[in-house]
Amino acid sequence: MSFRLLSLALLVGLGSGVAAGADEPGRAALKERAAVVDRRVGEEFDSLQALYKYLHTHPELSLQEEKTAARLAKELKDAGFEVTEKVGGYGVVGVLKNGPGPTVLVRTDMDALPVTEATGLPYASKERVRDKNGNDVGVMHACGHDMHMTCWTGTARVLSSLKDRWSGTLVFIGQPAEEIGTGARLMLEAGLFKRFPRPDYCLALHCEARVPHGHVAFTEGLALANVDSVDILVKGKGGHGSAPHTTVDPVVLAARIILDLQTIVSRETNPTDPVVVTVGSIHGGTKHNIIPNEVKLQLTVRTTKDATREHTLEAIKRIAKAAAAGARAPEPEVKVDPGEYTPALVNEPKLTRKTVALLKDVLGEDKVHERPPVMGGEDFSRYGQQGIPIFMYWLGTIAPERVAASSKEGGEPLPSLHSDLFYPVPEPSIKTGVKTMSLAVMNLVGK
Ligand SMILES: [Zn+2]
Ligand SMILES: [Zn+2]
Repeated sequence: MSFRLLSLALLVGLGSGVAAGADEPGRAALKERAAVVDRRVGEEFDSLQALYKYLHTHPELSLQEEKTAARLAKELKDAGFEVTEKVGGYGVVGVLKNGPGPTVLVRTDMDALPVTEATGLPYASKERVRDKNGNDVGVMHACGHDMHMTCWTGTARVLSSLKDRWSGTLVFIGQPAEEIGTGARLMLEAGLFKRFPRPDYCLALHCEARVPHGHVAFTEGLALANVDSVDILVKGKGGHGSAPHTTVDPVVLAARIILDLQTIVSRETNPTDPVVVTVGSIHGGTKHNIIPNEVKLQLTVRTTKDATREHTLEAIKRIAKAAAAGARAPEPEVKVDPGEYTPALVNEPKLTRKTVALLKDVLGEDKVHERPPVMGGEDFSRYGQQGIPIFMYWLGTIAPERVAASSKEGGEPLPSLHSDLFYPVPEPSIKTGVKTMSLAVMNLVGK
């Protein structure tokens, strides 16, 4: 996923409004439990760090996560889970039944991005593959999914080894193809909630590129946007660049459509309702003096409400067609790819509050930050759409001194997720991730 957020507000410690949870006896019990988990995390750390570096060096693109999935399946088996592979693409499902109690699903994503790594790390990826267009591209875990997989594996090991301290069922899933917004749908269509125990809660974490390691951040309720991809084929009638009157120029028409589309947000949408319409790609023509037959536009559309989403997608079609009619051009083709739709992510309030209270108890109030929603997308949302409470929180992964330097006036901005320069610091990010996720699960199951 991707988003932009200045962490300045986080660093100056904007309050979260959620009170810490446990009373005194509860707090003492939690302290003891946290100490046990800490010890287990410490014992696993060297092995987890090695796993992290292996995953970082061997990234695989969306829907190609063959070796990654095999490694995760092996990790879960070694931790005592019953494992099923190829559940929706290379999806991995591990189940650990441990007596009566709630069922908790913990999700990691597995895919990397077509980005050529420039971090200079000793364990940097040198992988190259052909993408779906046949281009030779570098591959990198530039969204931190390697960190997610490592924390997930660590959590599986810790919870499995502490079985006498909890009761219930764990469902650990390794999800493919998050970056193209299809993996969660593939796993659900393959029967994730029918073939395996249906969870009472779903948890996930995601790396944060501007929050210091040792800290976490969260959003209650709406956290991430609906994401749609739209393709517009603008049609004209080509000819000689010196004789425009004998043509219908799709380049001028495309330019008009792009500008008209900006009025959807500025003139058609309630100013308090966030919408983004970005034309991220425009391609047309071959040479200075030839008017082409067509121009291709690619858009990303972000909304947070279903009705607004429908209105925005309808408005794009209407505006493109009207502009074409005004230019006496053929009707353009406007395609919305339903396969690339990612629904908005809503962190269920009760589950969010319960888990945030725990995070504050174990990390300290000053290390748990509330942040506003952003217009990025994440298909973890689809599990919530099945009527199951979900919660995804952000794991700080950046050296605190870098965060502080970037927050100063004139400071260099930190690389965002998906940047070829983004990298999480393994220690203590892995420790914080495993500790918080293990305790969050124990907070929901029985005993
Ligand atoms: Zn991403
Ligand atoms: Zn991601």
